Amino acid sequence: HIGAQAVDRKVDSVCPFCGVGCLLTYNVKDEVIVSVDGRDGPANHGRLCVKGRFGFDYAHHPQRLTKPLIRKPGVPKNPDALGDPTNWREMFREASWDEALDLAAGKLKFLRDTHGPKALAGFGSAKGSNEEAYLFQKLVRTGFGSNNVDHCTRLCHASSVAALLEGVGSGAVSNQVNDVEHAGLILVIGSNPTANHPVAATWMKNAARRGTKIVLADPRVTDIGKYAWRTLQFRADTDVALLNAMIHTVIDEGLVDADFVARRASNFEALKENVKGYSAEAMAPICGIPAETIREVAREFATSKGSMILWGMGISQHVHGTDNARCLIALVTVTGQIGKPGSGLHPLRGQNNVQGASDAGLIPMMYPNYQRVDNAKAHDWFEAFWNTRLDSQPGYTVVEIMHKALAPDSDPHKIRGMYIMGENPAMSDPDLNHARHALASLEHLVVQDIFMTETALLADVVLPASAWPEKTGTVTNTDRMVQMGRRALNPPGDARPDLWIIQEMARRMGLAWNYQGPECGVAEVYEEMRQAMHEAIEGITWERIEREQSVTYPCLSADDPGQPTVFVDDFPTQDGRVKLVPADLIPANERPDADYPFVLITGRQLEHWHTGSMTRRATVLDAIEPIATASMNGADLQRLGLQPGDTITVKSRRGEVVITVRRDDGTPTNAVFIPFAYYEAAANLLTNPALDPFGKIPEFKYCAVAVTPGGTP
Ligand code: SF4
Repeated sequence: HIGAQAVDRKVDSVCPFCGVGCLLTYNVKDEVIVSVDGRDGPANHGRLCVKGRFGFDYAHHPQRLTKPLIRKPGVPKNPDALGDPTNWREMFREASWDEALDLAAGKLKFLRDTHGPKALAGFGSAKGSNEEAYLFQKLVRTGFGSNNVDHCTRLCHASSVAALLEGVGSGAVSNQVNDVEHAGLILVIGSNPTANHPVAATWMKNAARRGTKIVLADPRVTDIGKYAWRTLQFRADTDVALLNAMIHTVIDEGLVDADFVARRASNFEALKENVKGYSAEAMAPICGIPAETIREVAREFATSKGSMILWGMGISQHVHGTDNARCLIALVTVTGQIGKPGSGLHPLRGQNNVQGASDAGLIPMMYPNYQRVDNAKAHDWFEAFWNTRLDSQPGYTVVEIMHKALAPDSDPHKIRGMYIMGENPAMSDPDLNHARHALASLEHLVVQDIFMTETALLADVVLPASAWPEKTGTVTNTDRMVQMGRRALNPPGDARPDLWIIQEMARRMGLAWNYQGPECGVAEVYEEMRQAMHEAIEGITWERIEREQSVTYPCLSADDPGQPTVFVDDFPTQDGRVKLVPADLIPANERPDADYPFVLITGRQLEHWHTGSMTRRATVLDAIEPIATASMNGADLQRLGLQPGDTITVKSRRGEVVITVRRDDGTPTNAVFIPFAYYEAAANLLTNPALDPFGKIPEFKYCAVAVTPGGTP
């Protein structure tokens, strides 16, 4: 650490990693970030985890892209041998910005004009700012001419959002993480907060020390289990059985908050009828939790002074992810545990700005602020606002776009060209062999990123972009807090701010945008977005965020302090009530069998974030977790004759990886956990692209694999 006296400047910003949104300060000396301090933000109160504190030097990594790149003539795209993503110099030549942008946008324009607007698609990024997300979706909608725009929310909480919009009328959290201090019980389900939302986990642990009961419900018992009052290690894929049994218990034992349900919910009788077949006794053998334990937890949930549910991908990444979230909504509703402090629903957001990017309209069925594109009123409003004709058909989602890229030539909706900003689908999509072939088959792929990612290796044009500390913009954390990141450095070489690149692409696609002012007109873009999202952020001006650092929405006027707890009086649904939606057990799309007897669970780990492009280039984080490692229960290691540190081959119907194994007795038997951050053993070569029908999210948390000792990487 370099003390305050030694640095040239200190720049206040936000952590670029998870959705907790910790405020921090970059300490800069000689144009290098030398250390990071936590700031007293509302989400972190000075705390930072290992990623926030030590994961900053990726911005200075020698592999940063510093020149626009164009694929050399005749160099094929080889989706079967992406290999080491640092090994790209023979594939691309350097170009000027004008040449690269003319080619990048010119070919997209040609494809649009030749094959129609549906021939193009764009992936924006949850790692960028709200302003970048807003401008990117505006470019696709008004320049490409369709709603084929999506981002990684499709891979994380799309099913949660589908259930929340249907049930409570809003896709955001009802209560902020810090509210756990007012809860009597915290249900953590399908989430590993110590690894994925570390500072949020510290508030949960503090609450537990003060007497709040934590219930951890997860097939994989993780660190937060050490603080749990009860740990429900239910069988993977049986979430609906467990949750319906809890709802059944609440009804069966007369614990329903009848007044709340009568005043504020609809469809209760249908829910009650549906859960009749889901008694704790009937579900116990299915989910593997004793009936008395299910009943005990349900009782405590219903009667505590406040019960709050925090959940993650373990709920959402299933073909029944929307049903899982529907059950969570039903549980808080029948017990009256929503609309007051220390209660409610909190889907923990993964990336730093996945909340904001979704709010800004980076999704194929919604304009900014979740206005449906097929709603005539919203459609007309945005046509007038942007002064252009807009498509009223929802666009394709992430996985659907990959399918459409491989559609036959005769398909009028075949995707032929894509613009991908800051996302890495060649690592993050399910069934990577399919996704990589889809990307390689495109007639034109433009990738904008800070490193030569696996996706960029398949591009025709690569545009070198800015890392988070190199730009100014707002992000919105999991708590609905809009916060500001400020530029601490200039981008290296000829790399440029993403906001500048999007505007240059738009200009070459024929759009007459004119954003003025410093930092590529970021404040003006924000103000336009604020108008488009006036029902949520009307009271949050650019100047106010600069002044106050963090403002929570909904916030409707200059003197509105923002609402940390929502749904206090009513729900933003048509009738103001929660709509209860019954759910039944639907099995995973692919169950274990004799050939593939193990369940694969994928996820993140504390030190590495998403596809690893940033954290694996951060010195300290890479030193702690340098190699791809799977986790298995000690009983399975013994059965297979394995020791920790041995190599295993994990194979599914779609691919195989060779990986080192470690012992983790929190991982259930007959299962293997693999983080998806490592290109050398890409977990998504194995995963199943089957989708939840409502959220269109793939089933990353469950597919069948075979595990055998040994193997050659
Ligand atoms: Fe960054 Fe999340 Fe860690 Fe906070 S908890 S420092 S936001 S990675």
